[in-house]
Amino acid sequence: MRELRAEALVIGGGAAGTYAALCLHRQGVAPLVISKGLVGKSGASIFAGNLVISGRVLGNTEENARDTAEFLIKYHNQFLIDQEYAKRCGQWIAEVYYPELEEAGLYLRRDDAGNVVTSPGRLRSVAANVQGNSGVPFMDLRRKQLIRAGIPMLEEVVVTALLQAESGEVCGVLALDIASGEIFCVRAKAVVLATGYADRLHRRSTGTREMSADGIALGWRAGAELVNLEMQWWHTNDVRYPANWQRMQVYPNPMLGSWKSARNVNAKGEVFFDQQEDDPLAFGPYTVQLKRLVKQVREGKARYDGDYYSGFDHVDPAEVDAYTTYAKLFKQLGLDVGRDLVETAVSAHYRQGGLLVDPATMASTVPGLFVAGGVGGHSNGLIALVTYDGKVAADSVAQHVRDRPYASLPPHKAEEEAKRLQGLLKPGATPPVRVKKMIRELMWNDMGVEKNEAGMRRALEGLQEIRAAVLPAMGVTNLTKIMNHGWLDAIDAVNMVEACELMVHSALNRTESRGPFIRTDYPEMDNESWLAQNILVPTADGGFRFEKRPYATPYFQPEFVRKDNLAVQW
Ligand SMILES: Cc1cc2nc3c(=O)[nH]c(=O)nc-3n(C[C@H](O)[C@H](O)[C@H](O)COP(=O)(O)OP(=O)(O)OC[C@H]3O[C@@H](n4cnc5c(N)ncnc54)[C@H](O)[C@@H]3O)c2cc1C
Repeated sequence: MRELRAEALVIGGGAAGTYAALCLHRQGVAPLVISKGLVGKSGASIFAGNLVISGRVLGNTEENARDTAEFLIKYHNQFLIDQEYAKRCGQWIAEVYYPELEEAGLYLRRDDAGNVVTSPGRLRSVAANVQGNSGVPFMDLRRKQLIRAGIPMLEEVVVTALLQAESGEVCGVLALDIASGEIFCVRAKAVVLATGYADRLHRRSTGTREMSADGIALGWRAGAELVNLEMQWWHTNDVRYPANWQRMQVYPNPMLGSWKSARNVNAKGEVFFDQQEDDPLAFGPYTVQLKRLVKQVREGKARYDGDYYSGFDHVDPAEVDAYTTYAKLFKQLGLDVGRDLVETAVSAHYRQGGLLVDPATMASTVPGLFVAGGVGGHSNGLIALVTYDGKVAADSVAQHVRDRPYASLPPHKAEEEAKRLQGLLKPGATPPVRVKKMIRELMWNDMGVEKNEAGMRRALEGLQEIRAAVLPAMGVTNLTKIMNHGWLDAIDAVNMVEACELMVHSALNRTESRGPFIRTDYPEMDNESWLAQNILVPTADGGFRFEKRPYATPYFQPEFVRKDNLAVQW
């Protein structure tokens, strides 16, 4: 088997992975980026609509800066975040991130007078070119920066296992080149896992095709502790039909250069969410909207998979068109943005949880394995935040690799993993794509917006049955190794079962409701018991146990101990 070498290996070509690679390169460490999709064009990063302004930049007042920090901690993470990390991150975004991006040539949208256009209000944001499309120019820039720096990238290559030395230290990976079918290893002094969080694990999801919770499965198999896996975020305003538009969003955020934003209307034509009146602080008011939707669903006026509507029929279309892409999808659907509403539905969006890391270093609990971005369980992300993680991970890796020799790859482990992959390239009764669909249906039905113990136990049984009976019978019709997406689906399906089981276990263990995590059998948010990390610790017998670790709340505190989650604004 061919073996490559890289001082530091970065897995993932999104905002976090690309910035980690750039920072490593600047520090004289030679990185290699491996990405399952194209670098800068796969994962969630290209979908970012706009960029939040933190600190005092671009005319932010002290109050704006405070509101933004409060939004991040309260509305965006429901207090499940290290507030010192949030503070450091906010400072870095203000002092380094924006100046560096502008210097590198990212165009932040200006008005005719040359001033950067922002959304007004308590939380302000900017856009790269147009709101709704910021991720594309941003990630194009990152791709070009990597190319210019001569950082090697292996694209359409999937990492399927972390390889560990006898000591347990991660010293490389095994990977499959999707285009050629070659299985090879990479030896590295440190690995940065940056595989993102928007995984496609539910019937409706904002995740892209290649996002199958690989990072969670890889980390878990290597013995990493996981945290808050149950904290799944939902988009409430995504287009219901056509189905392949399920991540196309009717953005509810305030528009650039306007005080207006999209409203939600139920099946009876009643407005049930209007940000201007209902929630001026929540810049991304997804959880606030979700809670409103839950009430509509319970009253029979909407469903999670449709029968409610979103749009800008209360806004002058010129205002929508000025600085946003929001009207485009209406046009493409043959609708009039100034008059029509579009039917919307819920999609599984971010996962707040992931690998447990020390947010000061982005080190995981496995030596040699560092984490950047959405796959970590330390924050719910946002493009600027995951970029900061890339910098922190790179700083730690640069220290870690200094004067460190390459550890030898354990040959039998690489062979075992190669054999496992080859074993999935076989004929069988059930096509992998059907298995993925079964998993997504099951997750949607019993691990959807509203959950309870009975449903989650059913989900667990279903997943265990898939693991025991369906995975062994899974097989592909085409046995070629070249560009075989059936084979890749089979590899994905194994990871999905693994990650989904862990998510259900974690959800069963968090006996409360919190923001987007809604349990009908535990409807209260419980800050006495559960303002805490819900940690899955792997045990020597191949099982797991839970640990709970409270979060400190030095700057912002919840204003109650226990309260009906649906009655909490955030
Ligand atoms: C629809 C949508 C709208 C959003 N809007 C905004 C917004 O307006 N503002 C904002 O700040 N943020 C927004 N976000 C969030 C933001 O995009 C994320 O925080 C950020 O992109 C996460 O970056 P990441 O690098 O961690 O992961 P990703 O960008 O998801 O990158 C993951 C990378 O890992 C690779 N990968 C996965 N598995 C493997 C494997 N096994 N082997 C090798 N490579 C692998 C993928 O190919 C991909 O390159 C939005 C996200 C979505 C989905």
